[in-house]
Amino acid sequence: MSTSQSEITEVMKSPLVPLATLIGRELRGEKIEKPSVKCGQAALAKKGEDYFLIKPDCIRVPGDQSSSFSVFAVFDGHNGISAAIYSKENLLNHVLSAIPHGIEGEDWLKALPQALVAGFVKTDIEFQRKGETSGTTATLVVIDGLTVTVASVGDSRCILDTQGGTVSLLTVDHRLEENVEERERVTASGGEVGRLNVYGGTEVGPLRCWPGGLCLSRSIGDMDVGEFIVPVPHVKQVKLSNAGGRLIIASDGIWDALSNDAAAKSCRGLPADLAAKMVVKLCLEELIDSDKPNIEGWKAKFDETCHICVVLGVTSLTEALRSRGLKDDTTCLVVDIIPPECSVSPSTPRKKQSMWSSLIFGKKSQKSVSRSTKLSSVGAVEELFEEGSAMLAERLGKDFPWKTSSELFRCAICQVNQPPSEGLSVNSGPYFSPTSKPWEGPFLCNTCRKKKDAMEGKLRSQPTMTR
Ligand SMILES: [Zn+2]
Repeated sequence: MSTSQSEITEVMKSPLVPLATLIGRELRGEKIEKPSVKCGQAALAKKGEDYFLIKPDCIRVPGDQSSSFSVFAVFDGHNGISAAIYSKENLLNHVLSAIPHGIEGEDWLKALPQALVAGFVKTDIEFQRKGETSGTTATLVVIDGLTVTVASVGDSRCILDTQGGTVSLLTVDHRLEENVEERERVTASGGEVGRLNVYGGTEVGPLRCWPGGLCLSRSIGDMDVGEFIVPVPHVKQVKLSNAGGRLIIASDGIWDALSNDAAAKSCRGLPADLAAKMVVKLCLEELIDSDKPNIEGWKAKFDETCHICVVLGVTSLTEALRSRGLKDDTTCLVVDIIPPECSVSPSTPRKKQSMWSSLIFGKKSQKSVSRSTKLSSVGAVEELFEEGSAMLAERLGKDFPWKTSSELFRCAICQVNQPPSEGLSVNSGPYFSPTSKPWEGPFLCNTCRKKKDAMEGKLRSQPTMTR
């Protein structure tokens, strides 16, 4: 009998598994390679435009638990909810369909960053076909063993808190106000960046992009803004040490109120479900504290209900927040990647004890199990990949698989098969821009090629756009 990931998840959930059974498994030398993943979620809605995805039990090869992985995502919609809903329902499938069939393990993880780019762009193209005007941020996290891959457009964030107490940001904020590189890219692609003009020329609010007036420089959807607001995600892939770690994925409602460190520190030691509620609670406290004119009114409501109702998920405070205070949706996922303590060798009784006590007390062991010399230090995170360019030529690479077994070519973005003459192949220049460098990337179909050119500002019929 082989011990499966789901069995381990069961074991971690329930302290009722007899110790003899656990010891028996160890004595039989059954190895559990993958850490378990636990997720908690909390949200308070002002506009109802935040959506999230929790898929802890994905599998690549049916029946093979070693091919399991987990996916978590936050989508913060704007100008409506349809882009967020569409992305929640389709983005993951579009990403997975861009990974070549039949590859496994390390190869699968290596193919993932390019597949994420293809999947995000495909989701944007398909959603825009529907003719709806809303848009969304998207922060998608794929966890396979100790490897965490994060792809993101917009200003939702994913932070990593490791056992060593180091808090790191795995995403980049695509906000025009704070991101100089993105401002330059948008301007170079034909967008105009400025603030809203009101009251006889007074500039107010954050930097926005015109046409459209969006504060974000990247998103999915948003067909009514310029094409230079692109869906190409920043992608970062890291490998955690054997000590595991905690991810906090949340929309900007959280990060406008809390620093990365404050969010991480506020919930250390709590299980994931309570941790998510604690982060949202702290965010509310910050919002209330900052609302000085109404402080007394807030304190009254707060003392009455907040500590209990947020932790318990009661809605009365949510109702109170609808009227004032909470300016944006606030969604928080906390994901714990818990070391595979059951995989220690059977000859170390101390480990057995540590595993058993962690089952009883429901907390992570502070001990790192060093299985390889490469990752021996506690809390050390190995950076495997990071790329944030908005240019598809740099993101999809020349070696991105596109040739199918037949004479057809497969578009690297939408995965549609076409004869080579229908699209753009290696070394032919973009039709719309005779002056630009030849396209050296993989095969793209007509639709995706046009999308690529539009994103890079090469389809502009007029040299400048005005507000
Ligand atoms: Zn295509």
